[in-house]
Amino acid sequence: MKAVIYSAYGAAPVLAEVPAPACPADGVVIMVGATGVCRSDWHAWKGHDPVTLPHVGGHEFAGVVAAAGPGVTRWRPGDRVTAPFACGCGRCEFCLAGDAQVCPRQTQPGFTGPGSFAELVVVHAADANLVALPAGVSFVTAACLGCRFATAFRAVTAHGRVRPGDWLAVHGCGGVGLSAVMIGAALGARVVAVDVSSAARERARELGAEAVIDADGVAAAVAEITGGGAHVSIDALGSPAVAAESLRCLRRRGRHVQVGLLPGGPVPLPMDLVIARELEVYGSHGMAARDYPAMMRMVADGTLRPALLTGDVIGLEGVPGALAAMDSPGGGAAGMVVAKLTG
Ligand SMILES: [Zn+2]
Ligand SMILES: [Zn+2]
Repeated sequence: MKAVIYSAYGAAPVLAEVPAPACPADGVVIMVGATGVCRSDWHAWKGHDPVTLPHVGGHEFAGVVAAAGPGVTRWRPGDRVTAPFACGCGRCEFCLAGDAQVCPRQTQPGFTGPGSFAELVVVHAADANLVALPAGVSFVTAACLGCRFATAFRAVTAHGRVRPGDWLAVHGCGGVGLSAVMIGAALGARVVAVDVSSAARERARELGAEAVIDADGVAAAVAEITGGGAHVSIDALGSPAVAAESLRCLRRRGRHVQVGLLPGGPVPLPMDLVIARELEVYGSHGMAARDYPAMMRMVADGTLRPALLTGDVIGLEGVPGALAAMDSPGGGAAGMVVAKLTG
């Protein structure tokens, strides 16, 4: 099969012929229909996240089951599916409680094993991790869901618990941030979006943000706009300064959700405010397959429109260039880049 593979961190990925994967007893092989190109793939390629070399990245995908192992009972060849980026083992206490996103034995295609920048990709523990695609949801749209959109959905709904009329501050309007803006607005929240880029702020407005602000003096600006601070605030960028500012712009009893990765190690946060204002602090790590149906219903009925977040649609041969474009902080492209392999 064809796959985009690199042999050393930072070395140019190439489209090459590689052996097709074997099907695990409890897993499936998926024929990839579309795969997103995410900044996490760029981090792995640059060596910020250790992987086994040579490596095939790609962790946001949708496609058709090509083969199912003998232990798989819920899925068969021909099923249209997607999967979360963090796949649980299906057997531990966390998986059995529905929290596969924190499974200690989780597998992640594109990180712990070969990913979806390929014609075929393996998903382990398929009964626990696959999600059926409604007929009206295309592979390209579904490929936007598995990482950034689902992560934003869980951050806004499960951790943020936003209710209609609540103020939601979203710091950083990249893929995950714009997803949070759209989801918050669809749920009736009043969204304040923060970004240094005027183009990103404009996109946030188009996707439902009521107010947009530059990244200077954020806490004071949010307090003024919201009349005392946001009920929920999300760091969708991943920076120590932004995480601290997100806490400072909360209303009393507000909730901060950390979504952006902080690979640099421990981060100082204003814990004095957490105590005095009784703030809640959450980390959010994707979303388990069990929680997808609620999101998928809102996608299928048009309440959520992840297709609006899709940027360039490229072929598998365009993946190396899309990764290289992320060397610049803005990402080199507007919207989520998706490689389309089949109809
Ligand atoms: Zn598990
Ligand atoms: Zn991702």
